Amino acid sequence: MSDATAKKEERRKFQAIRGTRDLLPPETALWNHVEQTAHQVFSTFGFGEIRQPIFEPTELFARAVGGETDIVSKEMYTFKEGTSDFAPNQGRNLSPEVARQMVSSFKNGEIPNTPGNATAVDRIEQTLKEITIAQERLSPETFDSMVEGYNVLLYRLAYLTGQVGEWVSLRPEATASVCRAYIEHNMQQLPQPVKLYYLGPMFRRERPQKGRYRQFYQIGAEILGGTDAPGIDAEVIEMLMTFFDKVSLQGATLYINSIGHNADNCRRGYVEKLKAALEQVKDKLGPDSQRRIDTNPLRVLDSKLESEQAIIATLPRIADHLCDECKTHYAEVKRQLEVRGVLYQENWRLVRGLDYYMRTTFEITAPGLGSQNAVCGGGRYDGLVELLAGPPTKGIGFAIGEDRLILSLQESGKGQAHQGRDIYIAWMGEKAYATAIRAAKDLRKAGYSVELPPLEQKFGKALGQADKLGAKFALILGENEVSEGLWTLKTLSDGTQQKLTESDLLEFLRQQEKVSS
Ligand code: ATP
Ligand code: MG
Repeated sequence: MSDATAKKEERRKFQAIRGTRDLLPPETALWNHVEQTAHQVFSTFGFGEIRQPIFEPTELFARAVGGETDIVSKEMYTFKEGTSDFAPNQGRNLSPEVARQMVSSFKNGEIPNTPGNATAVDRIEQTLKEITIAQERLSPETFDSMVEGYNVLLYRLAYLTGQVGEWVSLRPEATASVCRAYIEHNMQQLPQPVKLYYLGPMFRRERPQKGRYRQFYQIGAEILGGTDAPGIDAEVIEMLMTFFDKVSLQGATLYINSIGHNADNCRRGYVEKLKAALEQVKDKLGPDSQRRIDTNPLRVLDSKLESEQAIIATLPRIADHLCDECKTHYAEVKRQLEVRGVLYQENWRLVRGLDYYMRTTFEITAPGLGSQNAVCGGGRYDGLVELLAGPPTKGIGFAIGEDRLILSLQESGKGQAHQGRDIYIAWMGEKAYATAIRAAKDLRKAGYSVELPPLEQKFGKALGQADKLGAKFALILGENEVSEGLWTLKTLSDGTQQKLTESDLLEFLRQQEKVSS
């Protein structure tokens, strides 16, 4: 490295990676408020919180979300998790016994069958054969002197080819993990249904823009097990709308649809018809939609491309192809929403991006977000737990995009949280400092946010600081106040002042709170 580059390196300033960002005060107060509201509202509906790992086997998402979805095919952050048990740390060679174990683990599926692994295992098998031949043909002394070399070679194949670890991905969504946890912890043995909610970061390598990030946050809930009674669908949606109402989200619109049953007649029949209709208009569609005719035809309905809108309007609609059971289920979901006073609009094009949905799907949009206006997506996914090798299990859930929810709240002016301190303590003199420390302790204990400057300042400067921090009150403690036992409290909004004894102070503050609320 040249001196110049070395200097440059030294001075490199780091920035958050594209698509990620820091959430800072005062905005984080709003995030906390939204999350607290979720905890409260969801628990009144009988949900308990689940906290899952942020990374899971890649295979879990590939299977649950679907290999043909954008999420799995191009948006996941995937890496290899360390090395396997077969690349031991204790040395740089691998014994033939361990190598043989590794081959059999590969053959019975414990090591993922990737092209890299297949090549590595193939070469390991060849080497094992060579070792057997060498052992038969060479004198024991010569073989012993060579065995170390073989073991190093085996190790290199296992380790340097580097394909023995498990592929893992940062979670792009959490429903798959919740189902994985349901199965792993035998939750089907608990009283059904099991109601879980989660909140936390998700990761998708998308083009960052307003309301679209690579690390973003979701608040979601799932109901697993029990029945697929339409009342469940309606109650989940009711809970969601109650939550949005509690956080004062303005102008939220709920869209619903039924996409039928994927296992039997209705959905499959519809997808065939849709495909045929799409083939007819193929050359008028953009490249994304053209590709999706084969991979994920339902997703074409989701297209936002202006030039495709007129064509999409003429395509066959799933509502006309639902089987009787799905039709009844959908009608009943709508009726149940009406019983609960939940307003909705039907949208036949609402199909959702993930493979696992069936029957009820829904989405909620909010204003102030430009084209990224969906703040929540959800739906029923009865086959998913089974697809992940669990028992047949009903499932329904949703995921709220917390970043977008916060943006919408801020745009509508509902995002202001009180950010200033309640009380700034202006003190002068050693004795006053001791009193100030005690006062700060008592006020904080009573729940007030207190700023206690660590260095003495003139009162004028201190009051200026208090203003800048947005404090409501300044508590002034000088020699006089301390010796008289009467403290001065200044209300910064109107400049009025009172003298209070230490014991009257808390009472006065409480009264003030009542007046202002
Ligand atoms: P979109 O069509 O906007 O890409 P999606 O169908 O990919 O959304 P879901 O997988 O259903 O979204 O996720 C549920 C919610 O999570 C979305 O409605 C949205 O609010 C939010 N969300 C999804 N991707 C992002 C992202 N990259 N950045 C911020 N929020 C996101
Ligand atoms: Mg998306």
